[in-house]
Amino acid sequence: MNKKYLFTFLIVWIIFVLVFSADAEQYDQERQLMVEKQIKQRGVVDPQLLDAMLKVPRHLFVPENLVSLAYNDTPLPIGYGQTISQPYIVALMTDSLKVEEGFKVLEIGTGSGYQAAVLAEIGCQVFTVEVIKILADTAQERLKSLGYPEINVRWGDGYFGWKEEAPFDSIIVTCAIDHVPPPLIEQLKEGGKMVIPVGPPYSLQTLWLFTKEKDQLTSENLGGVIFVPLLREVREE
Ligand code: SAH
Repeated sequence: MNKKYLFTFLIVWIIFVLVFSADAEQYDQERQLMVEKQIKQRGVVDPQLLDAMLKVPRHLFVPENLVSLAYNDTPLPIGYGQTISQPYIVALMTDSLKVEEGFKVLEIGTGSGYQAAVLAEIGCQVFTVEVIKILADTAQERLKSLGYPEINVRWGDGYFGWKEEAPFDSIIVTCAIDHVPPPLIEQLKEGGKMVIPVGPPYSLQTLWLFTKEKDQLTSENLGGVIFVPLLREVREE
């Protein structure tokens, strides 16, 4: 290569590296602010969870045109009528399950894969089910490319859970339904916890935390939420 080309190449490369690291630094700062203001100050203080949320690059889980809003205090659309949950709701739900490293966790509603990545960062063994094929495929690829190849993504109706992998220490349902699916109760370990929004589609629902004790569920109301509905038909789109 002649000297002139080599020099131009070097300059372009340096500019690329500078722009890229400036971007990464900006997202790091936004993520720190998100954790401090939206999560810690609202009472979620588990260090392992906060650390996981500081690590997962949320801006890489949203559509490109919404990257600048990735760390805002809101849910965001991810296409196909679905959303990535508000960061605080991800924190609240994860915190309520009191998950620990090595826990086997089932998620219903993979969506972008963000919640699954947070659980994996904590050290959980994650199984996640998504009803819309393209979302399941995209999330699987994204999780692999971001360093979470061990997360198991399945395309299907999460109403039925993931029988072959049961029982689970914890179950997290990130779409709303008007009753708790019996297969999910069956697939929860004795002493295990399940967090699930229960209520009518597209209106105020209640986030419930259930604990399975002697085959009975004890419940705790975690407050009002609005989640997208749990769909009962598997979509190939
Ligand atoms: N946890 C996701 C957000 C979930 S939004 C994240 O971190 O990004 C709810 C998701 O549940 C949507 O992707 C929707 O397609 C999915 N969903 C709806 N009904 C479902 C069902 N029956 N089984 C599995 N997933 C379902």
